[in-house]
Amino acid sequence: KNHEKHRHSVYLNQWVEQYRPYAVQGQCAAYIPALEKVDPLQLGIVMAAPDGTVLESGDCKSSFTLQSISKVISFIAACIDFGTSYVLDKVDVEPTGDAFNSIIRLEVHKPGRPFNPMINAGALTVASLLGGRSTFEKTESFLTLFEKMVRKRPVMNEAVFQSEWQTAHRNRALAYYLKETGFLESTVEEALEVYLKQCSIEVTAQDIAIIGLVLAYDGFHPIYKEQIFPKEVARLTKALMVTCGMYNASGKFAALIGLPAKSGVSGGIMATVPGRVNSPNSPFPHGCGIGIYGPAIDEYGNSVAGAMLLKHLAREWDLNIF
Ligand code: GLN
Repeated sequence: KNHEKHRHSVYLNQWVEQYRPYAVQGQCAAYIPALEKVDPLQLGIVMAAPDGTVLESGDCKSSFTLQSISKVISFIAACIDFGTSYVLDKVDVEPTGDAFNSIIRLEVHKPGRPFNPMINAGALTVASLLGGRSTFEKTESFLTLFEKMVRKRPVMNEAVFQSEWQTAHRNRALAYYLKETGFLESTVEEALEVYLKQCSIEVTAQDIAIIGLVLAYDGFHPIYKEQIFPKEVARLTKALMVTCGMYNASGKFAALIGLPAKSGVSGGIMATVPGRVNSPNSPFPHGCGIGIYGPAIDEYGNSVAGAMLLKHLAREWDLNIF
């Protein structure tokens, strides 16, 4: 077994080094200094197995902020707090094909319900309805769920939050629009604060790999043997990740990689791999969670080297769910 694991990690190291240079085809997000100033050639991956072991390679100890990956967690938290039917009254489950921060469809399609919770309009709506009355309680609902999955208290990067807050012009515009159409349950400032705080939480590839693992097990934590959220919520979330998780490149991602995944502008990708009986090539026949960090992103906002690495892995190790 150790010999097998060694062989798999030799391959993984080789693939990380093979795709790392492709980061030059992308660029670090430049709207705030904390994202712009990192080394774009970093590439790290952690694959978390249900027995608690990990396969890791590259810059897997780097920390980065959750950014849009947080949309998955807040959606699950809102479903836990209010039930899925209430949440789906406020936000639809249709992909858009537009950029993640696009405002256009809110007006074109009456009554202006956000198309899905993986774009900013949907995520702001979800942030506005999280359980609790104050922004503190709403943020707490998010943090508690994170803590149940990752088993560590999440830390917010205050500098990132401050810069996000100062540059959130478009998010503020989206929130005002949603307030006017009645989809935002809190005030504009509260929704923004909760959303930008969740975006600013500091994680490692391992943390998001563990969340991916819990999703692979339909809300059950295979390491701590605890059902954290209902399986219906997990299935709904994974369907949203497949159809909307990689922004307006989600179709290509499903077609060419075939894994429920969610990216963030900081260069993180979280993916979830179910167990399957018929995949002799996979080191993870019982499924796994994948966390990737590669800060240079493409025009859609997805990690360039990270997506290439994931594509290669999915092919070599039979991870494609289709
Ligand atoms: N903070 C960013 C925003 O809301 C994060 C979005 C993202 O990761 N795509 O614009």
